[in-house]
Amino acid sequence: LAAPLFADVAGDCRVSFEYFPPKTEKMEATLWDAVRMLEPLEPSFVSVTYGAGGSTRERTHATVARIARETAISAAAHLTCVEATRSEIDAVAEEYWAAGVRHIVALRGDMPTPGARFEAHADGYANAAALVAGLRRLHPFEISVAAYPECHPDSGDVTTDLDNLKAKIDAGATRAITQFFFEPETFFRFRDAAAAAGIDADLVPGIMPVTNFAAVQRMSKLCGTDVPDWMGRLFEGLDALPAARQLVAATLAAELSRKLYAGGVRHLHFYTLNRAELSYAICHMLGLRPKAAAGRVAA
Ligand code: FAD
Repeated sequence: LAAPLFADVAGDCRVSFEYFPPKTEKMEATLWDAVRMLEPLEPSFVSVTYGAGGSTRERTHATVARIARETAISAAAHLTCVEATRSEIDAVAEEYWAAGVRHIVALRGDMPTPGARFEAHADGYANAAALVAGLRRLHPFEISVAAYPECHPDSGDVTTDLDNLKAKIDAGATRAITQFFFEPETFFRFRDAAAAAGIDADLVPGIMPVTNFAAVQRMSKLCGTDVPDWMGRLFEGLDALPAARQLVAATLAAELSRKLYAGGVRHLHFYTLNRAELSYAICHMLGLRPKAAAGRVAA
């Protein structure tokens, strides 16, 4: 107990950061502050989400292309199958290839109406596995897909969900990034089940630092993530205290990350929500330092 909480963390964890495409100039400035602040941590890649029904097609493209152009970071574009034909989706992928983007996060996506059952476009890709196969036919993209430690709500059971993940890997994906979750055991159980199902791709836990508890509760309900009772108690009475919520959020996410690290995880993916400070603090506690700063200390 006398040992500091993070004393055993060696700074050898790879990280990646997820951003969403900005809607306004102000949001664009916030995003770029985040990209620049997190860049010196040398993420393996950063990814940019794709809005429901392709609603952010141009903004996602512009953001990914700018990151590829103006930073040394490897940029990945999320791409979904929703409400688009195969040739429209292929055209988007071709634009990425032409812009030098080599990594796609291939997703089925959700219908624009929240909670509506997914229906594939008549001439579209039926699901993420089909999209992965389609991308593979176009170019040798690096492809990441989504995984669900608590099972996707559309899957009847864990076995079906794992079969689907295996189909995505077999189609050519090399990495699966998970939906967010709050207990380390949830990830470890999933990792064991995936290994037993013959899935050997890299499974990267997605970490969601929680600052707005009510919003995360709503999101968790939609995506089937369990929100433990103890989390509710931790955020009780903090609605009007944003700085206190930030501290609680950083502590929780760092503790989850540390336990994952202790369990052998060496790549964490952060849902940054375009805010850098929290992800930066958590990475710091994991022992990560900007390369240049580490050099100065050593000199
Ligand atoms: P799939 O893997 O295709 O499958 C979803 C479910 O349907 C699975 O449970 C599967 O078992 C079932 N299923 C698939 N095919 C069949 C079949 N043939 N028969 C029966 N069942 C089937 N959404 C966005 O809109 N934009 C984003 O940028 C985005 N980024 C994300 C990033 C990450 C890391 C994660 C975890 C999710 C992201 N999402 C995003 C949300 C994602 O689009 C939804 O979770 C969506 O509901 C499922 O997408 P998928 O790629 O996992 O789908």
